[in-house]
Amino acid sequence: MSGSLEKIDPEVKEILHKEFVRQQNNLTLIASENYASRAVLEAEGSVLINKYAEGYPKRRYYQGCRFVDEIEELAIRRAKALFRCEHVNVQVHSGTQANMAVYQALLKPGDTILSLSLSGGGHLSHGSEGSFPYKYHRIVNYGLDRVSERFDYEEIRKIAKECHPRLIIVGASAYPRAIDFLAWRKIADEVGAYLLADVAHIIGLIVAGLHPDPVPYADVVTATTQKTLRGPRGGLILCRQKYASAIDKAVFPGIQGGPFMHVIAAKAVCFKEASQPEFKSYQRQIISNAKALAEVLKEEGFRLVSGGTDNHLVVVDLSNKGITGDRAAAILEEAGIVVNKNSIPFDKRPPFSPSGIRLGTPAVTTRGMKEAEMRTIGKWISRILYNPQDRLLRKKIKGKVKELCQKFPIY
Ligand SMILES: *Cc1c(COP(=O)(O)O)cnc(C)c1O
Repeated sequence: MSGSLEKIDPEVKEILHKEFVRQQNNLTLIASENYASRAVLEAEGSVLINKYAEGYPKRRYYQGCRFVDEIEELAIRRAKALFRCEHVNVQVHSGTQANMAVYQALLKPGDTILSLSLSGGGHLSHGSEGSFPYKYHRIVNYGLDRVSERFDYEEIRKIAKECHPRLIIVGASAYPRAIDFLAWRKIADEVGAYLLADVAHIIGLIVAGLHPDPVPYADVVTATTQKTLRGPRGGLILCRQKYASAIDKAVFPGIQGGPFMHVIAAKAVCFKEASQPEFKSYQRQIISNAKALAEVLKEEGFRLVSGGTDNHLVVVDLSNKGITGDRAAAILEEAGIVVNKNSIPFDKRPPFSPSGIRLGTPAVTTRGMKEAEMRTIGKWISRILYNPQDRLLRKKIKGKVKELCQKFPIY
């Protein structure tokens, strides 16, 4: 029982250390990643890991739940105040499971889901081939407008009228523009569908008042706590009171067993952090940084999907640059710049080797980087992508990346 990790398992300790050094010495531009605070880490790595608490506060199937009840009630109270919603479920383990719980709560097998295509920036859990909803529901996709690369509300209305969805999902993993949730509500009402807003990526911007809020319009809102919200890896479901019982039952016992009380404690800490004034300035800086990165990439001759960004991410179309998204991501990593390959709207290439890359600013902004650093990073990215044969250049830039990272430690 006693003994540090170093003593008991130096092998794991060593790998953890290598990962810490990787995070410290590389630039994370993965739009869905961030660095949780020390307080969040501390809450998650706590004795709550030892506790079973099936059920909900004051209605548990186990004894000894007095303090985990306090934790979950605190997390719920904070979340309701932060998101201004009628009901919240903080037990759901991840964003994908949050969506799964919504399908379980609102749909019957065979019902139709209308959601964004993967190449338009949608998420696997919205019904891609291979996903759980793909197996049990009829999935119809909408895409983006070919020219603006934004939602075409007229077209979506037309598709909705044709396919009679039981559920419409709005929300994306790679959509750089603001979403007008009222327009979606109107479409859902016209066809008598439920509206699910999956704001996994943009929840932090929403909390800070820098992106339209789906809570007044959607029947259910799902999110993650690890992305712009900068908390632990986890899910979140916000809904109107009338769906509260169905949603909670869908999470437990529907698709989960015992809640991760240590994660719920870390979520509570994250909600507290997100309610501070500094969180708002942090979110504002995320957007300014994304705009700065978009500007420099455009100056360098890159085409951005939709021409730019309103939020925390940009999608770069590399189809006219003679390099695929996977190769671009691989050579950028050689220089210490970590991004992910991404499909672009109407991509002619397959998802595993798509035409684009996605860049996001939440993590570098947490480190304290601002517009000036974004310009430097954007120019490095440009030089690397225009000179894919130049290994030496990547080595040189890797050194500069490390220097920059050392000025902005992750902890
Ligand atoms: C990240 C994401 C999710 C789910 O994420 P998990 O990895 O399951 O936590 C769900 N929906 C969207 C739109 C996302 O971007």
